[in-house]
Amino acid sequence: MGPIPFLTHASHFTQQDESRKFLYYISTPLSKSVESGSFFLRGKISHMKTKKKMIVGNWKMNPATMDESKKIIKGITKAAEAAKKVDVVVCPPFIFLTEVKKAIAKAKIALGSQDIYFEDAGSRTGFVSPVQVAGVGTKYTIIGHSERRDRGETDEMVNQKISAALRNGLTPIFCIGEKERHSNGDYLEHISMQIQKGFAAIAKTDLQKVVIAYEPVWAIGAKTAMTPHDIYEMVLYIKKVLREKYDAIVSESVAVLYGGSANAENAEAIIKDGEVDGLLVGREALVPENFSKMILVANNIKAKK
Ligand code: PEP
Repeated sequence: MGPIPFLTHASHFTQQDESRKFLYYISTPLSKSVESGSFFLRGKISHMKTKKKMIVGNWKMNPATMDESKKIIKGITKAAEAAKKVDVVVCPPFIFLTEVKKAIAKAKIALGSQDIYFEDAGSRTGFVSPVQVAGVGTKYTIIGHSERRDRGETDEMVNQKISAALRNGLTPIFCIGEKERHSNGDYLEHISMQIQKGFAAIAKTDLQKVVIAYEPVWAIGAKTAMTPHDIYEMVLYIKKVLREKYDAIVSESVAVLYGGSANAENAEAIIKDGEVDGLLVGREALVPENFSKMILVANNIKAKK
């Protein structure tokens, strides 16, 4: 493969034809090598071709009461049950984890935390350890959300938290995303750097237990989401960085979610045309009717051949 224009010039993103040429260039050899890889490694990476979709709700500092949490769970249980091809995850505040775990006991819904500390125990006033989070039945943890990075969380801390999650059997939902998009393509460097630093010393074998959530910060809590076309380009770019850091099998097996103003109306286009494995949802995760619609939309999207 020759030099990849994508890496040196991002300005052509605005030119659809150039962009399409690039997409063809970057994706064709990848899918071929992955196909042969999956043939040889069938079993080990069997989920690669049959990857389930994921819809993750990040409740942030909501709702105000446990009763309201239970209402949200009640309101999404039916959709989660019906959506056999979707893993549904809710990430309530720490204080509600234990009770929400009880509320989802019979539901096809998994539990995630919104953060963990990177040490397993110690004199750390106010923090919650991965051991404690795993101990109450949590399976996932969001790591490196932009709202935490904004409050001083560094890439090094994010890396330590990813290790801590893996060490404790939690699946990290590793958030990456640029704050803004300059036409000089700086944001690509930023994404690459976040992946390199976040996955520093993380073994290839552990990558199958990691989920990446691409969340352009400017699209979080905004009026509109990123366009599916732009999301698709970023998914390809993320896979390319993973391919170069690890290999083609890893880059195709890691689930990549999109987050940032996803809702019941745009979910289908984002998942289908953005070619993401699912969504990380903020505001709409608190509205059971809308979150349920998103779960069902994800369930009805046919896998691309
Ligand atoms: C988020 O904060 O992770 C998020 C995606 O929020 P929203 O869906 O509200 O944009």
